Amino acid sequence: MLTLLKHKKLNGILLSHAHFDHIYGLNELIKRFPDTLVYTNESGKDALLDARKNMSLYHEKPFVFEFPNCIRIVKDNDEIRLSDKLKAKVVATPGHHPSCLTYLMGDAIFTGDSYIPGTKVVTNLPKGNKKHAQESLNKILLLAKERTVYPGHYIEDNNKKTLFGRNNEEQDLALSCSHE
Ligand SMILES: [Zn+2]
Repeated sequence: MLTLLKHKKLNGILLSHAHFDHIYGLNELIKRFPDTLVYTNESGKDALLDARKNMSLYHEKPFVFEFPNCIRIVKDNDEIRLSDKLKAKVVATPGHHPSCLTYLMGDAIFTGDSYIPGTKVVTNLPKGNKKHAQESLNKILLLAKERTVYPGHYIEDNNKKTLFGRNNEEQDLALSCSHE
């Protein structure tokens, strides 16, 4: 990720949710781009600051976000202005985790783990909720109809409309999560 951002400005980090595998790189990113804000909801903030809640405690290494002042809380329907030309609309899509947010940017939809084409939404993790996940999925599928889907994990897919990172230009726009 840091290599990808060489010589670039980081307008903001739109957190898809606060599971460990989506946030491990956050401290390094903020050290490199100290003015950058991290957008998430209350549950995301909670988990960013607690290695048990973001589940990193049970994986490679415990992770706690070290820059709580950079966190900006957003909620369903909010609009995030990242630059003069670039804004993102927030769609709350809980179910996989209560911190799950989906972002709409132009004809792109960043779905995190709330919708990974070709896979079932994972709901058997702490705070997962099957019913909420289904409601969120219905919402996302409607919004995804006319958009390119950028999920939180790459799945090999012959359908060109669901590739992660369609072209370099779009990777310049913003980050849906902090994958390294
Ligand atoms: Zn996840």
